[in-house]
Amino acid sequence: MFKRTLFEADHETLRHQIADFLETQVVPDHPQWVADRQAPRAIWQQAGAAGLLCRTIPTDCGGHGGDFRDSVVIIEEIAKRRLCGLLTFLQSDIVAPYLHRLGNEVQRQEYLPGLCSGRRIGAIALTEPQGGSDLHALSCAAEQDGDEIVLTGEKTHISNGSQADLIIVAARKGGTDGGTGQPTGFDMVLVDADAPGLTRSRINKTGMPALDTSHLRFDGCRVPQGNLLGASGMGFFYLVSFLSIERLVLAVYAQAMTETLLQETVKLCSTRQTGQGTTLDYQATQFRLADLYGEAMANRSFVDSCITDHLAGRLDNRNACIAKLRSTETLAAIAAAKLQLSGARGYCTEGPDTATQDVLDSAIQTIWGGSSEVMRNVVGSSLANIL
Ligand SMILES: Cc1cc2nc3c(=O)[nH]c(=O)nc-3n(C[C@H](O)[C@H](O)[C@H](O)COP(=O)(O)OP(=O)(O)OC[C@H]3O[C@@H](n4cnc5c(N)ncnc54)[C@H](O)[C@@H]3O)c2cc1C
Repeated sequence: MFKRTLFEADHETLRHQIADFLETQVVPDHPQWVADRQAPRAIWQQAGAAGLLCRTIPTDCGGHGGDFRDSVVIIEEIAKRRLCGLLTFLQSDIVAPYLHRLGNEVQRQEYLPGLCSGRRIGAIALTEPQGGSDLHALSCAAEQDGDEIVLTGEKTHISNGSQADLIIVAARKGGTDGGTGQPTGFDMVLVDADAPGLTRSRINKTGMPALDTSHLRFDGCRVPQGNLLGASGMGFFYLVSFLSIERLVLAVYAQAMTETLLQETVKLCSTRQTGQGTTLDYQATQFRLADLYGEAMANRSFVDSCITDHLAGRLDNRNACIAKLRSTETLAAIAAAKLQLSGARGYCTEGPDTATQDVLDSAIQTIWGGSSEVMRNVVGSSLANIL
């Protein structure tokens, strides 16, 4: 739909391989995953064997040693097929990079090969019941007890939460604040699925129905001291340092979904016959879709420039926020337009023009990974710097 200059021949070859895997191994079974509210564990290993996982992790840790464009190709192919049961980006572009960047050699060798092959499923737990937007308010506690860390608290809406073999948990470091009255820092703690004191329960939700989304309880959950990821008390700094890539990944996903919905909407309007032609012949339809197409084109250009910046190591958080804000809000707008323009057929749960699930799946994009309001806060509070 848009001319892009980002990719090389190898990326296009990868795109065909990924498309083939998804069409044969995932698309036929995805309705069952929706019914089960999760993907089967086996698909993660199949995805690993097909080269869908951890493309940017070096080969000596089990990855492919590729660049972020490999990840982009995979995210796009999954997004445009609405395969919410296999959101590989969480494992490949967030959990594994945390371990690769912050882990010591023992942790890397212990966890990364399994994440890369799909033998292990990963999750990251930041959000708590009292709110996910304000990470400063995080209250799950990590107390040191001899050579163990004891976690107490709750995390909620955690993707892959019930199935994960490894969860990276952000928790407030116990101990003193040095008499400053300031809250202590955070620790990032690696929690294995069989850690005593960890219980998990699935959350029912309307959007992204095949994605395992769970509530986690840590009741004096004990892990060895060796499971501390990075330096103690530095968790908030680490979280912030990963925000740009998380936001970019979500923008890549939303943009690919936008382009699919836009094409589907134009197609349905151009084939829906009315007494005077098609619904695309109405000027009202053309104006609405012209605006959305223009937004999507501008967003495509901006998201690709953010990808280029990330590849060059110069993506700044403000631009990542703009990319996430714009791409997810345009997605929500095109999903709403598709429903409106498809009429009653869009409101049905079956048939080629069903559109309500897209509205529900799109709705979370402006919330997770930092809501639109938080994105605007980041951009707005940095405006003095543009002078
Ligand atoms: C399907 C799904 C998967 C998820 N996966 C994960 C995961 O893997 N790991 C994880 O840690 N979390 C995950 N989350 C949680 C997600 O990141 C949070 O929902 C998100 O950060 C917002 O937090 P909240 O829902 O607690 O909303 P709140 O923080 O309560 O905010 C609610 C609303 O209040 C407004 N608001 C909040 N703060 C501000 C502000 N500063 N300024 C202006 N307005 C504001 C916004 O409109 C916001 O949407 C997931 C959520 C869902 C639904």
